[in-house]
Amino acid sequence: MSFVWTLAEQHEGRLKAVSYELLGRGRALADKLDTKLASLLIGDGVSEEQLQTLVHHGADEVYAIQDPRLAQFTCETYSNVLVHLIKTYRPSVILAAATSTGRTLMPHVAVRSHAGLTADCTELDIEPGTGHLLQTRPAIGGNIMATIKTPDHRPQMATVRPKSSRPLPADATRAGRVIAVPLDDVLVDERVKARGYRGDAVDFVNLEEADVVVAGGRGMKKAEHFALLQALADALGGAVGATRDAVDRGWVGYPHQVGLSGKTISPRLYIGAGISGAIQHLAGIKTSETIVSINSDPDASLHQVADFGIVGDLFQVLEELQRRLDERRGASGSDAGPPAGTRTPEARA
Ligand SMILES: Cc1cc2nc3c(=O)[nH]c(=O)nc-3n(C[C@H](O)[C@H](O)[C@H](O)COP(=O)(O)OP(=O)(O)OC[C@H]3O[C@@H](n4cnc5c(N)ncnc54)[C@H](O)[C@@H]3O)c2cc1C
Repeated sequence: MSFVWTLAEQHEGRLKAVSYELLGRGRALADKLDTKLASLLIGDGVSEEQLQTLVHHGADEVYAIQDPRLAQFTCETYSNVLVHLIKTYRPSVILAAATSTGRTLMPHVAVRSHAGLTADCTELDIEPGTGHLLQTRPAIGGNIMATIKTPDHRPQMATVRPKSSRPLPADATRAGRVIAVPLDDVLVDERVKARGYRGDAVDFVNLEEADVVVAGGRGMKKAEHFALLQALADALGGAVGATRDAVDRGWVGYPHQVGLSGKTISPRLYIGAGISGAIQHLAGIKTSETIVSINSDPDASLHQVADFGIVGDLFQVLEELQRRLDERRGASGSDAGPPAGTRTPEARA
């Protein structure tokens, strides 16, 4: 089996985009090490056709361990499967996504494998001469970039922030093997069963995958005003983010929190309204392609890192942005407007 592995992720039988991003990272490492790259899929219901797309995006081999008992992520069973494969094949490098699955599974596997794990890497490279994996991530509140290596233990494991790199373009002519690996019953932890996802779809927010994130901070003043951000996010096809301050005040749920102790996002467009730009928040948005800051304070830190800084009252600015978007969408014949009543003056009272 290959030396460098990436862990593909699926949800209800569909591969997640981050699976391809990881392959881009893994391909570069495998090429430097002059070795093969494998993608591992633990799950259920992913079609052969989809598995082939992992080859198209860079994998030399795809190992698919599929079984109805793996349809939903449970740490114990997934960990049993991965640890078993590690013991059997002894890879040198394993990359997983810094998603809730990766962040739960990889520490568990690292402890059981007596291996190192660097979480939330933004850069990965191979050290010339030694071939060690160089794992770079923000440290000390995002103030420095630390490069970590694991010279004595294998595998070298890292989680990588979703959207921190682009997948390689798909090449349908790439050749690779897709191998179905049967699930050994002894690896299934019968004590733990997934009973489906919690019924909190209302607050489910896939911030890491969103191309546009409209985030709010303490300047939003109260929970109801987050409807303004939701309306703008809906109009732009994006998701709503928040600072820890807004989350701590109970204005939005923790799944919306962006930053050091929340999610790391890399959208094409990030709009921050009423956010000062504390270092812990910036740590989560740094890799955004375009940053727009809306803040009445011209000296706000978020303005300093923004591509576009709008100095002004956020309520006026959001209203104007929404009006122009609605106008433009009206002109282009789209009738899918934001939810009615989200921009009424009462909402801002
Ligand atoms: C260990 C640790 C981890 C942390 N993790 C995170 C994290 O993951 N994410 C995170 O966000 N924070 C995190 N924090 C908290 C962080 O330090 C800041 O306290 C927080 O980000 C500030 O949130 P804020 O920008 O909403 O509020 P503030 O700093 O109070 O900023 C509010 C801004 O709104 C502006 N404003 C007010 N009214 C208006 C208006 N009408 N129009 C326009 N602008 C207006 C103000 O000028 C101000 O700049 C962490 C802190 C610690 C110590």
